[in-house]
Amino acid sequence: MKITFLGAGEAWGNEPNISFLVDNKILIECGMHTVLQLQKLGIIKNIKVVYLSHLHADHALGLPAFLLCSSEEGRGEEIKIMAPRGIDKYIDDSLRISYNKERKNLNFEIKTIEIKEMEIKIEGYKFLFSKIPHSFPCYSISITKNGKKLVYTGDGQPTNETIKLAKNADLLIAEAYAEGFENHSSIIRAARMAKESNAKLLAMVHIFRKENVEEKLREAVKIFSPIILPKEFDVIWI
Ligand SMILES: [Zn+2]
Ligand SMILES: [Zn+2]
Repeated sequence: MKITFLGAGEAWGNEPNISFLVDNKILIECGMHTVLQLQKLGIIKNIKVVYLSHLHADHALGLPAFLLCSSEEGRGEEIKIMAPRGIDKYIDDSLRISYNKERKNLNFEIKTIEIKEMEIKIEGYKFLFSKIPHSFPCYSISITKNGKKLVYTGDGQPTNETIKLAKNADLLIAEAYAEGFENHSSIIRAARMAKESNAKLLAMVHIFRKENVEEKLREAVKIFSPIILPKEFDVIWI
């Protein structure tokens, strides 16, 4: 499984928002910088499935631009969009508010899948979801194929259920925002989650721009290693 980071940043930092590709086919999160990053790779037409952990702008507001750009670039094939409840209204409202467009202006169909705690199989991948406490309805996702397992937390504080979802993950991509926020995880919590779930590798993302990263990482590596802090266009194979 090939994971390509398009960004790993938080909502208002100086890096592109958290977003990554699985095998250049599955797009995870579509924030404000995602279209630009996909265009740099020249692969916007290749995306078959989009997953949005929740509908905060830094995770979802790139969607209308993604849809219209894909159409303009010649996409004809249906796209599947997996996201929490409300995704259909979100697509319609965001297309209208951003560009005064509707779905009928696109050259392809959109199939939406409202996620809950469920199992879905698409393109040989198995997807599992677990709700994670955040200020917006949000889900963690597990993606497995050919015995390899990737887990991404989305935004929020890890729970026993999300730790269970991440059990023995080959790669855990965890939100690590900052200490002291009720609706977010932190560098220390992400390290604990990786240890408790017996993950093989931890990638910390969505770190608050004002967090003291060095100091917290010194503590975190005593709890779990290896830890990486991915940057845009980093690639990890699992
Ligand atoms: Zn959020
Ligand atoms: Zn966020």
